Amino acid sequence: MKRTEEELKKIKNEVLDCKKCFLYKERIKNRFYPVVGEGNHRAKIMFVGEAPGLQEAKTGRPFCGAAEKVLDELLESAGIRREDVYITNISKDRPPENRDPQLEEIKACTPYLEKQIEIIKPEIICPLGRYSMNFLMERFGLGNQIKGISKIHGRLFKSKDLFRNVTIIPFYHPAVATYNPNTKKILEEDFKILEKFK
Ligand code: URA
Repeated sequence: MKRTEEELKKIKNEVLDCKKCFLYKERIKNRFYPVVGEGNHRAKIMFVGEAPGLQEAKTGRPFCGAAEKVLDELLESAGIRREDVYITNISKDRPPENRDPQLEEIKACTPYLEKQIEIIKPEIICPLGRYSMNFLMERFGLGNQIKGISKIHGRLFKSKDLFRNVTIIPFYHPAVATYNPNTKKILEEDFKILEKFK
């Protein structure tokens, strides 16, 4: 357990020192924090969002801004406590004006996510949104099953990671539900699948 804490701390320090992409300059300029991740270090379920928004970058915590309420409600509806899961993003720094993360930013940042997955060893990984879905499905050898998120949200994709079974379940990004009630309904339905894994 101590080792896990130390390894995660090491990643946090690496992210703090990271100057690999443009988003680092934005972080310094705006006095933002990187959002490394938060939650149970032995979580069975890991959620991977896209990138921090303004509130997240101001506090260093994932999903504490506009999408927080939606995510918390979804977790509650599935009977899952936020402190039992681990929540992170593919980009640890906020892209300006909440634009989508760019390919070189994703490339620079995902080694940190891969290490987090290696250390925490979640059984279920839930990408939130298409960027993390695409990255994680490729990473877990499921690239040939990638389709638009509207086609494969809420579906289970089984993979093996260094002889460990891992299930990827893509979801729509909770932020979409803040302005689209239909997506909220779909997310609520999809999250029910997590009840059996908690
Ligand atoms: N959206 C994300 O993808 N991640 C966050 O942490 C907040 C909003």
